[in-house]
Amino acid sequence: MDVQSCLAVIGSMNEGRLPDGDRLAAFIDACAPQMFSGSVPEEADGMRAAFLAEAGLKSDPRIEHGRTEKRKALDEESARHVRETLFEAARRKAQKHFGNSIYIRGLIEISNICRQNCRYCGIRAGNAEAERYRLSPEQILACCEHGYGLGFRTFVLQGGEDAWFTDERLAALLRRIKAEWPDCAVTLSVGERSEASYRLLRQAGADRFLLRHETADPCHYALLHPVSQSWSHRMECLRSLKKCGYQTGAGFMVGSPWQTTDCLVEDVRFLYHFQPEMVGIGPFIPHAGTPFARFPSGDVERTLVMVALVRLMLPFAMLPSTTALGTAAGNGRERGILAGANVLMPNLSPREARARYRLYNNKLSEGAECADNIEELKARIRAAGYEIVVDRGDFRQS
Ligand code: SF4
Repeated sequence: MDVQSCLAVIGSMNEGRLPDGDRLAAFIDACAPQMFSGSVPEEADGMRAAFLAEAGLKSDPRIEHGRTEKRKALDEESARHVRETLFEAARRKAQKHFGNSIYIRGLIEISNICRQNCRYCGIRAGNAEAERYRLSPEQILACCEHGYGLGFRTFVLQGGEDAWFTDERLAALLRRIKAEWPDCAVTLSVGERSEASYRLLRQAGADRFLLRHETADPCHYALLHPVSQSWSHRMECLRSLKKCGYQTGAGFMVGSPWQTTDCLVEDVRFLYHFQPEMVGIGPFIPHAGTPFARFPSGDVERTLVMVALVRLMLPFAMLPSTTALGTAAGNGRERGILAGANVLMPNLSPREARARYRLYNNKLSEGAECADNIEELKARIRAAGYEIVVDRGDFRQS
């Protein structure tokens, strides 16, 4: 795709029109051709064949890790020009709805115990090296109290699928948080549960729920997860969350193993139809204790392009500039905001817990990522031309 055609794609997305799949894929490959930040390990093809066989799926010769579509890339200077034009359009779109406000959410990592085995995740059940912990309700309430004093008006309770957190225990915790801090929103991010469970937790006070869809391509989903975890169930959970009245968050990694540009296009199309209130997008970063330990990270530019495209498509959505983006690039947080993101999620967890909630290698949890250093974060965001505000930051379609 040439520069003029790329600019036309930006123009049509800016006006709320989604180009067809081929055109969108050609755009991504033209301006952000690099998928990964390094080379793919030799064992990738063998692993893929084994995972497909395990899932009972046939091999698709079009999907070869790192050697997928051969759509034309622009020369680097033209690609940069297209990306900058895209980021500017996304930034303007965000500024139109949110001004220069950046919303903050206090992230409390309540448990790193998980029954699931997502192949990319450092706290998967199969990682025997992970030092497990679970915060007590009192510890979680103390984090909220501390966060409230720092100016947080949303608490995100995030954890693995830990059976200790039954509906009754989580509901009791939610009721205590909402009674103590009625002006705050609570977001849950505790994985797949039944619709009855989601409803009960919503009634107990949860306002929002984050459940990344991970990939809108079922075959790709089967490569990233064991057979015990199904794409259709993930989709069912997301639909249940909407039905229960949550502000619902979906999301995906950019550059995960065997992801193709077509997978990303499917992600965009899924988001367009699902209309989530929040979308988390970050680069894939490997973790040493997972089957993907030797795979390269996702490319930062491609991640930023996806953030900007989603901003154009979902102008009112809450888009975090993710911790993974901040980990992959020193100024990743600011670059995410300059590509249309409007949310940051500093870490409110106790220091001992933070070090153990390692989803991927070198995950940031100190410095500006730590809620205690909110002044440092405010200064950095101000330097980028934005202001962190004390606000629940609810989704509003206006
Ligand atoms: S991504 Fe979530 S569900 Fe999957 S293993 Fe990690 S914590 Fe568990």
